[in-house]
Amino acid sequence: MHGTATLRAIDTLTPCPCGNPAGYASCCGPLHEGAPAPDAEALMRSRYSAYVLKREDYLLATWHPSTRPAHLKLAAQQPVPTWLGLDVKRHEADGDRAVVEFVARLRYGGGKAQRMHEVSRFVREDGRWFYVDGEFPEG
Ligand SMILES: [Zn+2]
Repeated sequence: MHGTATLRAIDTLTPCPCGNPAGYASCCGPLHEGAPAPDAEALMRSRYSAYVLKREDYLLATWHPSTRPAHLKLAAQQPVPTWLGLDVKRHEADGDRAVVEFVARLRYGGGKAQRMHEVSRFVREDGRWFYVDGEFPEG
């Protein structure tokens, strides 16, 4: 259902899956093709888009090796999540470390929309940002 044709069609999608009105080709697309993220917020947005597009390879590649899972099995996830939107609340960078707080909205199967509120930590190594881990504040 999510084959190559789907990904090609998404190349022209506006707005970008992360919500940027500039569109995928000038937002998360280049990052998914290997360009380094300019900052942790851009990496976080591209990871959200990767969840939308089921780009497990990209999610693992941008996950810091110290906390990276062996696999995510996104393609086999049941019930299937539908990602509804992303709202970045805060981005604080201090040298090679950064924190991004965001709320993602999603729905599992035919269920109710729910919020995923996360404060993510990122680290930059050799010019590339990596996701380290996250905390989930109440509300
Ligand atoms: Zn984007």
